[in-house]
Amino acid sequence: MAAKKLSKVPEEAKTKKGEKPAVVEKKLSKVPEEAKTKKGDKPATAAKRLSGVPASGTVALSNLVSQMKSMGIDIVSFSMGEPDFVTPENIIEACKESLDKGFTHYTPSAGIPELRKAIAAKAFSDNRIPCTAKNVLVTPCKHAIFMSALAFLDPGDEVILPDPSWVSYEACIKLAGAKPVYIPTKFDDNFIIDPSHISAAITPKTKMIILNSPSNPTGSVIPCETIKDISRIAIEHNLTVLSDEIYESIIYEGKHHSMAALPEMFERTITISGLSKTYAMTGWRLGWAIASEKSIKELDKLQTHSISCCVSFTQPAAVEAITGPQKEKDNMVKEFRKRRDLAVDLIRDIKGLDVNVPKGAFYLFPKYDSKVKSEVLCTKMLEEAHVAVTPGSAFGPCGEGFFRLSYAASEDQIREGMSRIKKFMNNL
Ligand code: PMP
Repeated sequence: MAAKKLSKVPEEAKTKKGEKPAVVEKKLSKVPEEAKTKKGDKPATAAKRLSGVPASGTVALSNLVSQMKSMGIDIVSFSMGEPDFVTPENIIEACKESLDKGFTHYTPSAGIPELRKAIAAKAFSDNRIPCTAKNVLVTPCKHAIFMSALAFLDPGDEVILPDPSWVSYEACIKLAGAKPVYIPTKFDDNFIIDPSHISAAITPKTKMIILNSPSNPTGSVIPCETIKDISRIAIEHNLTVLSDEIYESIIYEGKHHSMAALPEMFERTITISGLSKTYAMTGWRLGWAIASEKSIKELDKLQTHSISCCVSFTQPAAVEAITGPQKEKDNMVKEFRKRRDLAVDLIRDIKGLDVNVPKGAFYLFPKYDSKVKSEVLCTKMLEEAHVAVTPGSAFGPCGEGFFRLSYAASEDQIREGMSRIKKFMNNL
């Protein structure tokens, strides 16, 4: 009997003379049978298109922050790109109601008709975009950007975008095989892109311009005149504009202007927005693309073959978000404005830091007075001061020498964090 049992044990695990049986057991328990590599097995090789695409720096940092927090370290986190408020009650109730009604199956791929209609009506009245429900695709905002890159860019195409810019544009452009062409912007110009620099960068390969106002990471709001100038360039060179307006409601001074509202721009613009930031709904994964019917059909093709549709029971809640009472949204914006003013005052009081007063979103992009690379500075700040901010270099070459600070945090956290940053900068 004993010999029969042993014959099943792999050669290398057999008991050697003098070895105790327990050792055999230990060896055998090391690798589960099903996980052993068979002869000829190889791990999957990543496709070449992924090779130039780094993992998201902002997500990597927030993972590290969560890890440190779970170890009991008291971190003040200014790294998150999301409101710290809870989603308004009326929206949550609408979602519960749709679940109770059993609205838990696939929806039309482009979104439920009531929601497409509500988004179109909002875009028509608030943004003056000449659209109807047929021009709307309901999809998570980030997915809308990813699909727009896949749908409208060919390998070798060039895409103009401001430097610094939100981290995922470059990744989406590269995944489509196209090339990002960064246009440097400056602290002294409030990081507003100069249209003459766009003109100078255009080549026969230029296909698209990406704009984001209010901006992540700088909080800048592109003035209406600049948007008009860029629209004229897009028309002259027959370019598509991807206008990311996800922070459209979080504006403190001035007004939001949509590119698609300008003459001759609707057909060539893909407007992206969503509920994540406006209604504190980042986890709901709900946003939209607004474009010509033809472009929406192309995006919908990709949607049907990727996510099929957005989550069903959140869509009636999105109708409630857009058409229901807006008081809580307005209160959030007021609160953000107070925090911005507080954070700007406290930063300007720190030796070695300078910051613009951003007109929108919930980010500050301070400049620091040191030769240290922003990634090194931010890691040191996290390790020594236990404050999490995002290195400016994550947003493009012109972000070097800056860091991004999200003030979507309580007043107490802002005060505590700034006092830690002050001590840290004094000792740098
Ligand atoms: N665009 C910008 C500029 C963003 O900051 C974000 C979120 N950080 C997105 C798009 C993606 O939004 P969502 O999470 O709603 O997909």
